[in-house]
Amino acid sequence: MNYPFEVEPLPYAYNALEPYLNEEILHFHHDKHYTAYVVKLNELVGNYPNLQNMSLEELLIQTDALPNEAKTSIRNNAGGVYNHELYFACMNSPDCELPTDQLALAIQATFGSIEQFRSAFAAAAINQFGSGYAWLILSNGKLEILSTPNQDTPISLTVTPLLCIDVWEHAYYLQYQNRRADYVENWFNLINWDFVGARYMSLMKEVR
Ligand code: MN
Repeated sequence: MNYPFEVEPLPYAYNALEPYLNEEILHFHHDKHYTAYVVKLNELVGNYPNLQNMSLEELLIQTDALPNEAKTSIRNNAGGVYNHELYFACMNSPDCELPTDQLALAIQATFGSIEQFRSAFAAAAINQFGSGYAWLILSNGKLEILSTPNQDTPISLTVTPLLCIDVWEHAYYLQYQNRRADYVENWFNLINWDFVGARYMSLMKEVR
């Protein structure tokens, strides 16, 4: 995907994640917050013709190519686009089934069990101070959990995110108010494990 970046439609109905995330949250989150990052990124990149053939990922990885005066804004807004697109793609319905594929085996080998992965991931999401994300990433073929502030993204030449949860207050406040832990707990029911597992398999092919 290149400039001008387009708002990707939500890959399911706005009420598809109820009861765990209500329709109102999804409207604000997708139509206002995520969309604003796309609009702002296009404004910024619009000023620099030499950046206009770079992909979203390249803008985030090849930061040396960015002009100093716009580096931080481009990084924040490109991160806002990338992170939200992955976040929305990682969910699909309120009755997800636990993974049973190669990714499930890798999660068990790395974290002990799916349940231990859940608690470690939840801890990263709950303990992220202020706004940010928790991630399951693939780093040189190995799974890791980490968290990042604001719209920072762990994408790099050697690290690729597989799964993320947005823990900015706008992701849950309208339904959960200050109860981030309840949001995180319920969010596990929404994960599109087919998407995450397919992403893992295609990335592992590249690693080999
Ligand atoms: Mn968000």
